[in-house]
Amino acid sequence: MRAKKSASFDGAVAFAQDLIRIPSLPGEERELTRRVIGEMDALGYDEAHTDELGNAIGIVRGGDGATAMLSAHLDMVAEGDHGEWEYPPFGGVIAEGCLHGRGAMDIKGPLALQVHVAAALRGRTPGDIIVAHPVYEERGGWGMDHLTRVDGGLRPDVVIIGESTHGDIAIGHRGRCEVEIVGYGLAGHASAPDRARNALDLAPAILAGVKDLSAAQETDDVLGRASVVATGVDAVPASLNVIPDRVTVTLDWRILPVDTEENLLARVRDAVAPYLERLEADGWPGARESVEVRVATERQRAYTGVEEERSILSPGFLMEPDHPVVLAAARAVGKPGGDGSGGAATVRPWTFATDGGWTCGVRGIPTIGFAPGEERFAHTNTERLDLDEARWGYERYLELVPAVQSAADRRD
Ligand SMILES: [Zn+2]
Repeated sequence: MRAKKSASFDGAVAFAQDLIRIPSLPGEERELTRRVIGEMDALGYDEAHTDELGNAIGIVRGGDGATAMLSAHLDMVAEGDHGEWEYPPFGGVIAEGCLHGRGAMDIKGPLALQVHVAAALRGRTPGDIIVAHPVYEERGGWGMDHLTRVDGGLRPDVVIIGESTHGDIAIGHRGRCEVEIVGYGLAGHASAPDRARNALDLAPAILAGVKDLSAAQETDDVLGRASVVATGVDAVPASLNVIPDRVTVTLDWRILPVDTEENLLARVRDAVAPYLERLEADGWPGARESVEVRVATERQRAYTGVEEERSILSPGFLMEPDHPVVLAAARAVGKPGGDGSGGAATVRPWTFATDGGWTCGVRGIPTIGFAPGEERFAHTNTERLDLDEARWGYERYLELVPAVQSAADRRD
């Protein structure tokens, strides 16, 4: 397609302002997606379309070398009380050298840069560039899981995630899993406890097991220590004159890339078993069989109408710091503010989870992160993107994309 618009940093900033003005909570990304596809078409992408979940996918064809995928995400977190913002959350205001508003750095600013960078690189890359911005990143990454699914999904050779790194190269993060430990008893009137079996009696045993589990978490040299903590106890029925027949203890577990759903659940079962045995010995019959361990789920609905019951599990990932793609990325980007000649960029993990858990942790595709923006502004009412840093990031992206494509190619 012939381009109606030429790619540029200033064009990307104007595009980002438009994106900030279109709210896009998870499941409500339709209008934003239309704007993104419109920009890809105007910039002369070879293809621009959405899939059944509403993910935005654009392609700029290059040589027959490795295909790179650039990815941000279409959704945002809620903006909260508008009165608490110095600049309006959906204003797209530029002031004090920064772009302001919800999504300025997480992630509509970087998204806009990626869309323009791919067009600017037309005819200058060893392989195709896929620009894929999925839905539902902020709720566990259903969009990216779907985009890279084994059956019929995209198979890029290397992925660059546009979550803020403040100019560094990110190579991984811990994941997160929400686990529910459910204990079943026998409901009864609170006036006649002998006829009931109080599910709440199971809670201390479960919590004691979780304490042991928490003490036994492993440490990764780069990502740090996994952590697990109980964050809720709910009893059902909730009426205060009824003995509950169900208690649910919920765990927030920051997991390492090696952790799988199966091994997480098995470790919880092992941790609580001795305490439930003791409870049985103390006269709570069948305590062990009365407890079920599962990953929490949530029913999600895409704006296209597709629905799915999703496990609340965001996988972690970690690239080897000396992987050729990481080394090439760090060299291409260079030191913050520089032109790439003054030594390699800092390589480090993110503290938060991204869609890289899906692309690398689950699907095994080499993945790194690079984007301007400071993490401390994410999800806050002072969200902003420094435009000098963004301009530098745009220029570094032009070197970064072909560099990781060449490195990915050499590896195969
Ligand atoms: Zn984000």
